[in-house]
Amino acid sequence: MNSTTEKRIALISVHGDPAVEIGKEEAGGQNVYVRQVGEALGQLGWQVDMFTRQVSLEQDLIIQHTENCRTIRLKAGPTEFVPRDEIFEYLPEFVDNFLEFQAKNEITYHLVHTNYWLSSWVGMELKKIQDSKQVHTYHSLGAVKYNTIEDIPQIASVRLAVEKEVLEIAERIVATSPQEQQHMRSLVSTEGNIDIIPCGTDIQRFGSIAQEAARAKLGIDKETKVVLYVGRFDQRKGIETLVRAVNESRLRDSKNLQLIIGGGSTPGNSDGIERDRIEQIVNELGMSDFTIFAGRLSQDVLPTYYAAADVCVVPSHYEPFGLVAIEAMASSTPVVASDVGGLQFTVVNEETGLLAPPQDVDAFASAIDRILLNPQWRDELGKAGRKRVETKFSWDGVANQLSELYTQLLQPQPVASTAKELVESTVELVQSTAKELVE
Ligand code: UDP
Repeated sequence: MNSTTEKRIALISVHGDPAVEIGKEEAGGQNVYVRQVGEALGQLGWQVDMFTRQVSLEQDLIIQHTENCRTIRLKAGPTEFVPRDEIFEYLPEFVDNFLEFQAKNEITYHLVHTNYWLSSWVGMELKKIQDSKQVHTYHSLGAVKYNTIEDIPQIASVRLAVEKEVLEIAERIVATSPQEQQHMRSLVSTEGNIDIIPCGTDIQRFGSIAQEAARAKLGIDKETKVVLYVGRFDQRKGIETLVRAVNESRLRDSKNLQLIIGGGSTPGNSDGIERDRIEQIVNELGMSDFTIFAGRLSQDVLPTYYAAADVCVVPSHYEPFGLVAIEAMASSTPVVASDVGGLQFTVVNEETGLLAPPQDVDAFASAIDRILLNPQWRDELGKAGRKRVETKFSWDGVANQLSELYTQLLQPQPVASTAKELVESTVELVQSTAKELVE
């Protein structure tokens, strides 16, 4: 295999470190995606190096996860946490250190898969410098996100321009749902190549424990109706809608209801501030005796929480994909989700759960009640969800699709070689005709 067809890839995720704990402010779906894709590709024989930004001096610079897959941390700006909207100015340093790493290790990455707009800029620079081929996954589109928030950050215009440029020039964009592809086309650009390859989940891990066993582990009795939220504390996640909906539930005063809110936070940071705000609403509504803030749930305990729940609620204002929905479905737990973005793709309304308009408290309340009040239907929805995830959203299936795409991009382009052959044969023909004429 020559250097352009070797199975080597750099996954670049400047602000989403694939090696850190998931479930905190800046660590969520993107970190899980990069790590899972990286390890699954490693199993398929790819040499996978995942590049991210170093955020503390205590961090190891290289972490070997599996034989073929490692995380490499590069210096870019201060060696401390920097919110993602403030990272752009440090990207040139990231590129320099990436090139230095390549030179030191005598490696050239002919293929890079970038994640989120910040990394897409890095990928476009590498394309200019060494002609690397680029695959890009957005994880979030500025053009959609800025429609759902009030405080538009200063960096917005730069982000929108970078997101347009990468769509038009990357070899391939990976949209994780048809809805995301539509947004790209209608809001970003009509140019560029898009493939739809969804996110995945670990179907062995999620679904490994039955509801009864999960409840025994968590000390929840059989009669209790459990409503679960899992995710970061961020206003866009719509936790307020969920809390207000549970307050309106017909089971509100039954003494049989439990609301579990899982997700980590750091006091004083934006997730800590959002958690305080939510806790205050819970207290104001008099719901604290049946609401549990479970804190950050590790990937090891998450399957137990999903399995124990009667329904998992994903009330986001905007969600490009939403891993939590497929994790719950893989655990045979129905999902009530906002009728937006990737959730319209993963959750099939009335089949694997219910969709409700975002921020519509009444609609969420009645969707939650419909499921809680009909246990048999709840189980049917759960089973259908599990089946949907098995057939469409397993990491192995997703990694196979990505591997095929990478292989295709690394191959010498057949069209170009045909054109080359055509030019060569035409030159030969002209030369021999000229020779004949001279003779
Ligand atoms: N997560 C976790 N522990 C928590 C909260 C969340 O491991 O306490 C994980 C969750 O299982 C999922 C990811 O964080 O894999 C969140 O991804 P999603 O796509 O739902 O949302 P994002 O964070 O990308 O907005």
